[in-house]
Amino acid sequence: MDLLSRELTDIWERCLTLIRPSVNEQAFHTWFRPIRPKSIHDATVVLQVPNRFFLDYVDQHYRTILLAALSQVLGRPAQISYEILRPDAAPTTVSLPTPPPPNGIDAETQLSLRFTFDNFVEGSNNQFARAASLAVAQSPGQTAFNPLVIYGGVGLGKTHLLQAIGNYIRAHGNRHRVLYVSSERFTLDFISAIQNNRSSEFSARYRSVDVLLLDDIQFFANKERTQEEFFHTFNALYHRGKQIVLTSDRPPAELKGVEERLISRFNSGLVADIQPPDYETRLAILTKKAEENGIDLDPAIYDFIAANVTSNIRDLEGCLIRLLAYSSLTGQDITLRMAKEILRDIIRPKQRRLSIELIQSVVAEYYGLPDDLLRARTRKQEVAHARQVAMYMAKKLTNAPLKTIGLHFGGRDHTTVIHAIQTIQSALQDNEGLRCDLQNIERRIEIATL
Ligand code: ADP
Ligand code: MG
Repeated sequence: MDLLSRELTDIWERCLTLIRPSVNEQAFHTWFRPIRPKSIHDATVVLQVPNRFFLDYVDQHYRTILLAALSQVLGRPAQISYEILRPDAAPTTVSLPTPPPPNGIDAETQLSLRFTFDNFVEGSNNQFARAASLAVAQSPGQTAFNPLVIYGGVGLGKTHLLQAIGNYIRAHGNRHRVLYVSSERFTLDFISAIQNNRSSEFSARYRSVDVLLLDDIQFFANKERTQEEFFHTFNALYHRGKQIVLTSDRPPAELKGVEERLISRFNSGLVADIQPPDYETRLAILTKKAEENGIDLDPAIYDFIAANVTSNIRDLEGCLIRLLAYSSLTGQDITLRMAKEILRDIIRPKQRRLSIELIQSVVAEYYGLPDDLLRARTRKQEVAHARQVAMYMAKKLTNAPLKTIGLHFGGRDHTTVIHAIQTIQSALQDNEGLRCDLQNIERRIEIATL
């Protein structure tokens, strides 16, 4: 490697180090690792990307980040131009203008423009929080929802809603001064203000807004000075009728290490939760995201993802991005089988192979017994019955020889297995309840192995 290309690689590596913490790991591997720095002229860096689709995606979603990182490393405003690497074809160079990108961060409000109410999918899990957010966005400071506190688990849309409020207010021509800030950022700003004797500037900045959107207040836990400062900020805004919206990963009452007087203020307006989305909402979100990204997949694939990724919307998106990247890089259409393969490490299949152990655990669960009792020596009536049912099912559903079945039940003899099967068969003649139990058990085994 010559000196120049080593230097270039070095510059690029430093950019990647800057970029890495600000995107998720998967996006980083999908969209940044494949980029190769080609050349640099003045402050224009030529980046090689695999194909046109990749270029569009990266440019649309990550140009701000790329430019910021390159500019920082180069020490002056950078420009980017791309070169598409197509096998068997001469590289095409595409220069793109560098005005602020559509989904960049607004300097004044710190809002990211891509989070809106329009692209927030409503479901029963978030309906209340969404409605409250919209009400606040339509009349900031004028509703009883002050402060509005949105709480819920990771990746469920709290930041999205918070930013949607800000973007809505901005878009509807109100002259409100909106400020979005994470609690980390608030804390860091505060520390740095104290260290640099600029506390009053700090206070003035945060107290002069009309709408304060503060994300992840759980971060204030055990930070007493920051809490103290925020308490005064809160009061100053509140008494002047300014809107405050907060998010938290748990209900205010459960915020440990946060002063009581703050918690009582958090509880004084409206507290709205976001729950994990149900299946229909997950499917709707996936379909919407796919549509936004211009992807059109076999519906069975959305179904597969929605059925398996249940607790975090960020992960739902992650699956789509990975499929998208895969199809763009390989130029192949994605089948359900491929999707399963590509998402293998995100979606750990719950599916299990049909085995005698599986039958035992389904049967034991059905009768409310621990599985190991079926293999134990006990002759208690209800255990003996469940064990006979499990033996019967093992015979019916697997090809295992009687001897093997016996061994799986604590080393019992094959005659015991025959006896169990006959007992169940004859009971089935006139026992409707048992017939129904067996049907249910068989269905559960089938579902477990789907
Ligand atoms: P949180 O702040 O609760 O951890 P985010 O607001 O960052 O979660 O949401 C994670 C990702 O999921 C974001 O990309 C967001 O746009 C998306 N998301 C969450 N909820 C929804 C929804 N109801 N409709 C559309 N996208 C959503
Ligand atoms: Mg968040």
